[in-house]
Amino acid sequence: QLSSVTQTYERRGQIVTALDNADLTIPDNDFIAIVGPSGSGKTTLLSVLGGMLAPSTGDVMLDGQSLYDLSVEERTALRGQKIGFVFQSFNLISWLTARENVQIPLMLSGKTAKQQEDRAMEMLDRVGLSDRTDHRPSEMSQGQQQRVALARTLANDPQIILADEPTGNLDSETRQQVMNYLNEFHQDGRTIVMVTHDADTAAFAHRTIRLVAG
Ligand code: ADP
Ligand code: MG
Repeated sequence: QLSSVTQTYERRGQIVTALDNADLTIPDNDFIAIVGPSGSGKTTLLSVLGGMLAPSTGDVMLDGQSLYDLSVEERTALRGQKIGFVFQSFNLISWLTARENVQIPLMLSGKTAKQQEDRAMEMLDRVGLSDRTDHRPSEMSQGQQQRVALARTLANDPQIILADEPTGNLDSETRQQVMNYLNEFHQDGRTIVMVTHDADTAAFAHRTIRLVAG
């Protein structure tokens, strides 16, 4: 729940208002598409929701807990447990294999090497990549890379998935495939908040919020 959230940035001495007194309540297991022109504040909104950017003013509550009243360490731990991110550019680490990329969040949450490996293999299987676990990103198609990123997002079994243009770099067939997975993750009971430019992608969501000038 965002309450009266304002986010300003300073750019070359000018104050830019990216979010302007925004209120938004997201019930558990919602599936929201956020649309709006470039520069309207969509990425800022996801960053604030995801505990990555403290708003200039206003409150962000997650399950009754005020996110930005936590210490940085507490907030990082909560984010690792409850929130998964999907990015347009996949953000895979180029010199690691698919399996190692999926293991990263598991390593960060203190799982043993065996637990990391088992869970990574299970998640890669879930996105249909059992036969690509030892490939590096450069050896995979764009769609396969985004599926590795989806497997990594799921690794810690997050309750909430925040996705910033998850289909932005994909052709229409691959886009459909990635959206089918996000749809499945929603049916698992997860809450999904997705920024998109694409009307076909937004159509997967249960509701669409249009952001204009914050
Ligand atoms: P969107 O994702 O909808 O394109 P953003 O949230 O990225 O919008 O940006 C909203 C506004 O805030 C834009 O005017 C953008 O230029 C500005 N902005 C975003 N991030 C920064 C930053 N780190 N420093 C300065 N201005 C920023
Ligand atoms: Mg953006």
